[in-house]
Amino acid sequence: MTGVYVHLPFCPYICPYCDFAKWPHKQSAARQYLDALHGEIDSAAPGAGEHTVFLGGGTPNTYAADEIADLLARIASKFPPARSPEVTIELNPELVTAEAVKVYAAAGVTRISIGVQSFVEPEIRTLGRRHNAAQVASAVAAARSAGMGSVSLDLIFAVPGQTIASWRVSLEAAIALAPDHVSAYGLTVEDGTPYAQWRDREPALFPDQDVEGDLYETAIDVLEAAGFEHYEISNFARPGHRCAHNANYWANGEYIGFGVGAASYRGGVRSTHTRDLESYVSAASQGRRIPGHSERLEGAQRAGEAVMLALRTAQGLSFAAFKERYGLEFLDYYASIVEPHRAAGLLEVDAAGARLTRRGRFVANDICATFITLP
Ligand code: SF4
Repeated sequence: MTGVYVHLPFCPYICPYCDFAKWPHKQSAARQYLDALHGEIDSAAPGAGEHTVFLGGGTPNTYAADEIADLLARIASKFPPARSPEVTIELNPELVTAEAVKVYAAAGVTRISIGVQSFVEPEIRTLGRRHNAAQVASAVAAARSAGMGSVSLDLIFAVPGQTIASWRVSLEAAIALAPDHVSAYGLTVEDGTPYAQWRDREPALFPDQDVEGDLYETAIDVLEAAGFEHYEISNFARPGHRCAHNANYWANGEYIGFGVGAASYRGGVRSTHTRDLESYVSAASQGRRIPGHSERLEGAQRAGEAVMLALRTAQGLSFAAFKERYGLEFLDYYASIVEPHRAAGLLEVDAAGARLTRRGRFVANDICATFITLP
């Protein structure tokens, strides 16, 4: 399975915490970008085997539904879909219409991911968002009536001013809409964003690590009690609704990214397109190589990446699969890293593999990072 990711970077407005490649929507720039993107896709070598597709952003539904359908047709002509197809589109609930969702479904979309972030009005505003809970409910209803196979809701915790009680309100409101999948991300404050300046001015408003841990634990408790499987650090699914596209990332599978700032991983080479919109549009529309960075991951770095990704998942890392792919005995090779984590109760090891414990999931990024430090 290979993942195809397409970045649609325009948004109706810019959220103050956002560090993605994104720009405020302007009709002419959006159209020009789409033409450039078509150029990049049309000139790509056709993919062999099966593919998942993910339209992310940005806000993909700043584009008209027929533009999305046209884009998906171009992708499908180059990259054959999986036998059990998974085509996801991220949607801003404010811009969803029932008619558009029907067009997406007819164009092959099987999964929609709605950027809810919170159901609590003051938190939605703190995040700089303008939607409301009723618009989220309408978007879910539109997806169901269009026969969409999977509906996912994105939520954010560690929002300034958020409490355990208000976080529970969001989790329970999400569950009440009967989604198939929920992603719960801890807010990260990235340098250079308005949120970073705000945190510098008023650090006490931002939840500390202990509070963040409590919020995360609440998410796990509430979602698991509602029948969701916690299958990856930030992701919860009802049976049969794990995101195959993201599961391929975590399995260190190959993916190809189209669009500004998009990343690819093919044949052991990781590459990222420029985040400069003008440079991207100019190169893609003239059929030139897209500027960006690329590096070949080899040896310890490649193996370490695979460990880091596998430990994000509930099933963790399989020793047999690791040995087959990288030729290394995991426990011998990483003994100096594994033992302290195991002794601290953060990593669980049995005959078949290693996985994070519940406590380990709270500091997953720190633990995972230790596996890419070996020379
Ligand atoms: S909608 Fe998403 S991509 Fe757009 S500004 Fe907000 S967080 Fe960033």
